[in-house]
Amino acid sequence: MPNVEHSTRIFLIGANGQVGQAWRDLLTDEQLVGAVDHKALDLSQLDELADRLREHLQPHLQPLQQQSQPLVIVNAAAYTAVDQAQDHQQQAFDINARAPGIIADVAANLRIPLIHYSTDYVFDGHGEQAFVESDAPAPLSVYGRSKLAGEQAVAAANGAHLIFRTSWVFGVHGQNFLKTMLRLAQERDALSVVDDQIGAPTPAALLAQVPFDILRQLQEREDPRWGLYHLCPTEHTSWHGYACYLIRQAREMGWSIRVTDDAIKAVDSSEFPVKATRPHNSRLCTQKLQNAFGLTLPAWQSGVDQVLAQLDKQ
Ligand code: NDP
Repeated sequence: MPNVEHSTRIFLIGANGQVGQAWRDLLTDEQLVGAVDHKALDLSQLDELADRLREHLQPHLQPLQQQSQPLVIVNAAAYTAVDQAQDHQQQAFDINARAPGIIADVAANLRIPLIHYSTDYVFDGHGEQAFVESDAPAPLSVYGRSKLAGEQAVAAANGAHLIFRTSWVFGVHGQNFLKTMLRLAQERDALSVVDDQIGAPTPAALLAQVPFDILRQLQEREDPRWGLYHLCPTEHTSWHGYACYLIRQAREMGWSIRVTDDAIKAVDSSEFPVKATRPHNSRLCTQKLQNAFGLTLPAWQSGVDQVLAQLDKQ
């Protein structure tokens, strides 16, 4: 029996982002049949996107469309500059909504499943409870609206797809909150960190590993489990709780941390004015995903520990 885990082939869009690089770290050369960055496939060039994508896919269509070697497209590219999106609505919608729609149409026509990512920012963040997939979206920002339109465009193409809404992504590659806090904790005597936004810090590696594992269970295009899921670790915290945890762990690992625990001040988000309104509650319920695929997701702290250990080795 062929091992399905090894026979699934991935074509990756957005190869240099945090999540894109996590896919590249996860996959063998045989599993990653193609990986395109911004230069090789520009999602803002909507007129030519479908043709360019089909050209990239063409060499991999035969014989990989055989049942034993399925090909899957992963779209890890996005316009993620949340505040800039407020002033660049057209660009945000082109890359986050129209381009995913075109990618999904190409994928559906070629009968290739598509994995796509979305965000907690599709919700307004009211309340304290974790949002479930069926909760009504009500984005507060252009970025959130563009990502919601992207989800809808992917679903409208009617092909086999998985959309994963996630939150607070971090990893060893790229820029993120964890790396910024680590740097500041080494440079400064005191820090102020927002305490009135809650969510789950999500390691980029989890956003590659879980979808890839799930593909092993999704052999049929008719499987009812294709669709929209929330994917993040269990438990939740605030940005302040996240910063305190990661700084304490780094100190215990021997990093030369300057700031003391007492000097990490919890502040309201009003102290850091930004263009795009963030949800106060970014909690995402992952029960649907865990039930559908028999998964147990880790707590967010273990992802922080792993990334700190990787950064420590570098
Ligand atoms: P990154 O910002 O790290 O990476 C995004 C990638 O998209 C970059 O490699 C970028 O390439 C590429 N990209 C941007 N514009 C274009 C374009 N016109 N054509 C082709 N590629 C383009 O994002 P993440 O890895 O953090 O995010 C992955 C997914 O997760 C996205 O869908 C995002 O919306 C979602 N998400 C992210 C969260 C986060 O905290 N980061 C939270 C919730 C959801 P280049 O660098 O060359 O511009």
